[in-house]
Amino acid sequence: MYIDIGIKPFPHTHNTHYEEEMTLGQIAELCYHITSTFLKLQIASTTELTRNTQEAVLRTRSYFLNDIFTQWDPLNSEISFAYNGGKDCQVLLLLYLSALWEHYMLGICKSQYDQAYHNFPLKKLPTVFINSNETFPALESFISMTVNRYHLSLYEDKKYGCSSDMASEFERYLELNPSTKAIVIGVRHTDPFGEKLKTIQMTDSNWPQFIRLQPLLEWNLANVWSFLLYSGEPICPLYRYGYTSLGGVNDTIPNPYLKREVVSDEDKTFKFQFELENSVGYSPENVTKRWETQDPNLIELGEQYLPGWYLLEDFKERAGRIKKC
Ligand code: ATP
Repeated sequence: MYIDIGIKPFPHTHNTHYEEEMTLGQIAELCYHITSTFLKLQIASTTELTRNTQEAVLRTRSYFLNDIFTQWDPLNSEISFAYNGGKDCQVLLLLYLSALWEHYMLGICKSQYDQAYHNFPLKKLPTVFINSNETFPALESFISMTVNRYHLSLYEDKKYGCSSDMASEFERYLELNPSTKAIVIGVRHTDPFGEKLKTIQMTDSNWPQFIRLQPLLEWNLANVWSFLLYSGEPICPLYRYGYTSLGGVNDTIPNPYLKREVVSDEDKTFKFQFELENSVGYSPENVTKRWETQDPNLIELGEQYLPGWYLLEDFKERAGRIKKC
C-alpha cells in the first residue's frame, strides 16, 4: 500500500519547470510529487494499463525504501546510478529521486528539528556512464541537459581514455569512487539475459565486485511509457522519431515495426492519452515540447515512423538494434 506521510504539496507549477533552475533537493521533491500524484490517480477512471503501472511504481518504491536504503545509505555516496539517457534508466532515476526525497523527509519526521532547520544533504548524484559507443548527437545533448537537470555528477569513461570492455570500465569507476558499494541499474526481465536477474545481487565473479540494484526488473515496456509520459519530464527526442531502444549510432535504427506508409485507425488509438491528459500541469502546447527536436534528419524520420511509445510488445523492443557480427 502507498502511505501518505504528509509531505507538503510541491510548491512549483509543473508546466514551467523545464526552465527553472532547481537544486537536487528541489528536483527530488518534484519527482516525489510526480510519483505521488500518479499513485493517487483515481482507480475508477484509470485504464488497466495505468493501474498495472501504479502497482509497478509501488513495488519499485518499496524496494528502494524498505530493501535498499535500509542497507546502503543513498545520502553518503554508497550508491551510484548507471545512466545512459535511455528510457529505462530515466524512469528509474525519477523513482530513485522520488524515494530519495521520501527517505530524507522520513528522516526529518524523526528529528526533533523542523524541516526549516534541515538542508538536503546531497548536491550531486553519483552517476556512471560507460560511453564506449559513438552516440547520437540528440542523445548526447539530452544527456548533457539531464546532467544539469537532475544534478548528476556524471563519470564518463571516454574522458579518461577508452578501454575495451564494460567490466574494466566499471573497475576504473570503482577505483576512482571507492565509497561506492552498490550501483542502480535500469535493466528489466525482458532485456537480453535479464530473465533470471534478481533485484539485489552481487556482480558475477569475473566482474569488479559491487552490488547490482535492479528494482525495475518486473516492469514491462508499456509501464515504462505510462509513467514516463505521465511524468511530463523531457524525454530523449530519438524515441519520438521511431526509436525504441538506444545503442550506438552504427548499430541502432528506428524500429521497423513502427514504419508506416499509411497510418491505420488502429494506429490512431493512442494508449497513453490518459497519462498525458492527467499529467500535472498538462496543456496541449507543453506536451510535445518534452520530446521534439529541430534536427531535420529526425524530423524526416518522424514522417515515416510512429513514435516509440506506439510499440507495446516487449519482444519487439530491440528490433531496431542491429546485431554486431
Ligand atoms: P533503452 O533500452 O531504450 O536504450 P536503457 O538504455 O535505459 O533504455 P537498456 O539499454 O536495456 O536500457 O540498459 C539497461 C540499463 O543498464 C540502463 O537503464 C542503465 O542503467 C544501464 N546501462 C546500459 N548501458 C549503459 C552505459 N553505457 N553506461 C551506464 N549504464 C548503462
